[in-house]
Amino acid sequence: MDHEIVIIVGSFAGLAAALQLVRARRRVLLIDGDRPRNRMAEAVHGIPGQDGHAPTAVNAALVAGVQCYPGLDRIDGVVASAEATDGCFGLTLETGDTIAAPRLILAHGVSDDLPDVPGLAERGGRSVHHCPYCHGYEVSGQRLAGIGFNHASLVQALVLPDWRGEVTLFPDDRVDLSDDDRSALKARGVAMEDDAVAAIEGRGDSVEAVRLVDGRSIPADSVFTLSATRPNGDLVEQLGCATVDADFGPYLETNFWNQTSVAGVYAADYIARPFQNVTLAMADGVNAAVGTHHAMVLED
Ligand SMILES: Cc1cc2nc3c(=O)[nH]c(=O)nc-3n(C[C@H](O)[C@H](O)[C@H](O)COP(=O)(O)OP(=O)(O)OC[C@H]3O[C@@H](n4cnc5c(N)ncnc54)[C@H](O)[C@@H]3O)c2cc1C
Repeated sequence: MDHEIVIIVGSFAGLAAALQLVRARRRVLLIDGDRPRNRMAEAVHGIPGQDGHAPTAVNAALVAGVQCYPGLDRIDGVVASAEATDGCFGLTLETGDTIAAPRLILAHGVSDDLPDVPGLAERGGRSVHHCPYCHGYEVSGQRLAGIGFNHASLVQALVLPDWRGEVTLFPDDRVDLSDDDRSALKARGVAMEDDAVAAIEGRGDSVEAVRLVDGRSIPADSVFTLSATRPNGDLVEQLGCATVDADFGPYLETNFWNQTSVAGVYAADYIARPFQNVTLAMADGVNAAVGTHHAMVLED
């Protein structure tokens, strides 16, 4: 098939983009490496109509909803490199196969860099969570530890008591708490431990305590911590898309249709948002798809 748009890739944002474009009767190629960001979570929450389903089940329903339309091709594979050539984009897959793309939608997700605390990253998606809106309900009433490394951790610690837990914030030395911040935390019933965290302790996937460098262990059942994010791979740099640095990692410069600084490249990920989840990723996919479609029609 002679594809008009290539979408890297086919997870939540990419599939939402693909649905708009195949319904607009355009010819779309999806390339998917099949490692969604939330793959380690047992269930995905907060998606209207799909709350509590396994991430793979949500993805399968989205795939089925797109594949029933003519106009879609799908390749399972990883894009190793991308370059802008004359009015077109050249993609090389890890297999060495090459693909020419007249227009691109980037939806290849982000990776999470968690604070460098032993025992934290390996429990990600099990008893260590990023987002209370996604996983707070399931741990209501537990002893919750907030591990903080930037100012957003303060806001997260302030909202956590609404999930009826006993909350303790462990800010590291990058979190500069003012007297007003400390008063606000106290007013919300949040305890604070200013000593540095040495490790997260517990058997298997479970959390039992936060161990401090002074040797004390503070009991906890679940941890909430924010991650810094970075785009997967080097495709953004290779294509020359402009980025802006933020507290939570780099994001792409985009216009209101999610077009990047490179004409013909739209983005369904790495959009500046203080908060990210599956529903917002799908919304960005829809916006990028409609923006791409409008541009195609206006160019003709
Ligand atoms: C542990 C955890 C739990 C979460 N729980 C929830 C939740 O309950 N509810 C919620 O709404 N949100 C949740 N989130 C957030 C949610 O996972 C993300 O917002 C969502 O996955 C973003 O979707 P996406 O399609 O933009 O990217 P992703 O789902 O990350 O998909 C990106 C895809 O790109 C592929 N890829 C990357 N590079 C390449 C390449 N070069 N070539 C080909 N393919 C490539 C990857 O393999 C992957 O399939 C959670 C996040 C984490 C980390």
